[in-house]
Amino acid sequence: MQRFSAFSLFRQGLGGHKGWKPQWRNATPKPSYDAIIVGGGGHGLGAAYYLAKSFGMRNIAVVEKGWIGGGNTGRNTTIIRSNYLFDESAALYDHALKMWEGLSQELNYNVMFSQRGVMMLAHNIHDVQVFKRHVHANRINGVDNEWLTPEQAKEFCPPLNIERNMRYPVLGAALQRRGGTARHDAVAWGYARAADALGVDIIENCEVTGIRRDASGAVSGVETNRGFIASKRVGVSAAGHTSVVLGMAGVRLPLESYPLQALVSEPVKPIFPCVVMSNTIHAYMSQSDKGELVIGAGTDAYTSYTQRGGLHIATHTLEAICELFPQFRRMRMLRSWGGIVDVTPDRSPIIAKTPVKGLYVNCGWGTGGFKATPGAAHLLAHTIAKDEPHPINAPYTIERFRDGFMIDEAAAAAVAH
Ligand SMILES: Cc1cc2nc3c(=O)[nH]c(=O)nc-3n(C[C@H](O)[C@H](O)[C@H](O)COP(=O)(O)OP(=O)(O)OC[C@H]3O[C@@H](n4cnc5c(N)ncnc54)[C@H](O)[C@@H]3O)c2cc1C
Repeated sequence: MQRFSAFSLFRQGLGGHKGWKPQWRNATPKPSYDAIIVGGGGHGLGAAYYLAKSFGMRNIAVVEKGWIGGGNTGRNTTIIRSNYLFDESAALYDHALKMWEGLSQELNYNVMFSQRGVMMLAHNIHDVQVFKRHVHANRINGVDNEWLTPEQAKEFCPPLNIERNMRYPVLGAALQRRGGTARHDAVAWGYARAADALGVDIIENCEVTGIRRDASGAVSGVETNRGFIASKRVGVSAAGHTSVVLGMAGVRLPLESYPLQALVSEPVKPIFPCVVMSNTIHAYMSQSDKGELVIGAGTDAYTSYTQRGGLHIATHTLEAICELFPQFRRMRMLRSWGGIVDVTPDRSPIIAKTPVKGLYVNCGWGTGGFKATPGAAHLLAHTIAKDEPHPINAPYTIERFRDGFMIDEAAAAAVAH
């Protein structure tokens, strides 16, 4: 693998930058692999990387129906935090946050992880009570989170409007200083490059169209538009299309797929120092390194597989943003887009074995799985390699929806970005 360093940059500069090689091979499918990962998003690429790096497997393929990072990984608003309410959630998301803190070094690839702080606004008494409960619960779990008065919130984020006579007055905020953002494409590319260097085949434009099972019912491989590929272990990390892919093996999941959208403004000079979220209004904002205001909205109210959301949802979000940050009223929006998110009844993910031997699934991340990318990838790899879950993902089974052991972040936060 060509390593990145100040020296290699300098040396390539002397040669007119003509010596850089492709970051990963354009692999063609082999007849069989020890493990196949379906889905070339951050979670799938990361799982392949950890299977090779941490669990010693080498003969691995990632099959992606489009291009890597073209799904939700390349479409999200990149908010990273770990201040979820329940013990199981704090363990899961903080596992990921700790991995983010060393990811650029681990991959020798700058994922532009920026711990600029994530501030969640409270607009009514219920929000205040819920967020204070989060602060206390997080601290018990060793996860940083602190309560801010409206004045302290404004000090942390000067553009914030804290006048009291608004439709959505700011009554306070919960701040996780270790939270922040990362560059989403870089996460996919960094994992792809590092996995490729360990021998993983990354196969783009390869759509899984069927999952083959042997006489005993166990997985024997995947049918694709480029032919059959044999493997006794298949991990599915297909986000909004998980229920479609798992349906090919006869597995039904409690998932619904919704469009979720985001938009960016024209670029401006640095003005927005942190990430601000308003769960009540479904509005999220940060500023990218290019200067664009990155804005996330809520999901559509109905299920669909379109990668674009309803206009009224974005309009509602922008109205709220303009009230919270009146100085942005005259900004122009440059682009908007959508992704398809897979939502479970309790808004917590599934990282588990399935009823089919050799078939594993990582899904249900809904609107909030980017922040979990390294953790989810590592835990999926562990589950595939050991054929049993890691203690952190042990509660995240499919069976919890049958047995009633929900991890109900939906009720806890009303949203899970
Ligand atoms: C607008 C938007 C904003 C978001 N904001 C945030 C945020 O701020 N913070 C946060 O934490 N999360 C956020 N999310 C959620 C986050 O993006 C996802 O949870 C996360 O990226 C999921 O990663 P993944 O690798 O599992 O999925 P993806 O990146 O979607 O990867 C799945 C891949 O599977 C492929 N695939 C599907 N079917 C097949 C098939 N049959 N054969 C082969 N390949 C297939 C797809 O093409 C896709 O590339 C947001 C999502 C959206 C859409």
